[in-house]
Amino acid sequence: MSTNISNDGVQRPVIKTNPITDDYLVTRHVLGLGINGKVVECTQRTSNQKYALKVLRDVPKARREIQLHSRASSCRHIVSIIDVYENVYGGNRCLLVVMECMEGGELFTSIQARADNAFTEREAAAIMRDIVEAIAFLHHLDIAHRDLKPENLLYTKKGPGAVLKLTDFGFAKYTGSDKSLTTPCYTPYYVAPEVLGPEKYDKSCDMWSLGVIMYILLCGYPPFYSNHGQPISPGMKKRIRNGQYEFPVAEWGQVSDDGVYLVSSHVVTGNCV
Ligand code: ADP
Repeated sequence: MSTNISNDGVQRPVIKTNPITDDYLVTRHVLGLGINGKVVECTQRTSNQKYALKVLRDVPKARREIQLHSRASSCRHIVSIIDVYENVYGGNRCLLVVMECMEGGELFTSIQARADNAFTEREAAAIMRDIVEAIAFLHHLDIAHRDLKPENLLYTKKGPGAVLKLTDFGFAKYTGSDKSLTTPCYTPYYVAPEVLGPEKYDKSCDMWSLGVIMYILLCGYPPFYSNHGQPISPGMKKRIRNGQYEFPVAEWGQVSDDGVYLVSSHVVTGNCV
């Protein structure tokens, strides 16, 4: 997509104001559900190519999401934004984001589809390499994603040759090398202790989430969870803050010492920045 450099030197996506329906046929086919509503399939009229459409209310937070996502769009492991429209949609001023269509679905679904929910170390390593490439790209741009989880990692297609890409920049923020982040934006299973507050934190919070994803890939369940089935509990927060989690032998007995070492010493501690 094309971008403009504005007076403040920041690269922003060109936002089209003509009706999206001039250029795309918007279908009712739902590709996924998120906190902002449905992501649906749309077809470009000129090429007949399928794309994904995300509709956001036109508020400053949505503009930031689109700006950060567009900046990162050139990475091979980040979902590309194709077009952005500013239209009245359902009576509200909205931003309509057309993205490449990720027909392979969520990494989350692939984890659930496994009989024992775990990947081999070789498979987990290949998945982690792709995610790390996306995070390295973002961190190089001084962007913290802050919502790294298997629901936000999508495959280009089903089967061999599919490429894994990161999406959903709803919690993403620019951050310098200093600890400048304060808002506790998170999804409980993946949240780093420093994000729970009250201290300021930085982009290295994404490294913790990488460790949690690697743990889940290798055994099929998360390292931190509430014992009472709640999304988050005081006990769970305490275990996250203390880095208190286990490697149950039933699943981890089959993982190499190097695999366990990588999870415990380098990533869940947030050390591997
Ligand atoms: P929200 O910010 O509302 O949570 P997301 O950007 O996370 O929305 O998208 C919600 C879901 O929609 C994703 O988890 C995924 O299943 C689906 N989805 C999002 N973007 C695409 C895409 N480009 N192609 C296919 N499906 C997508």
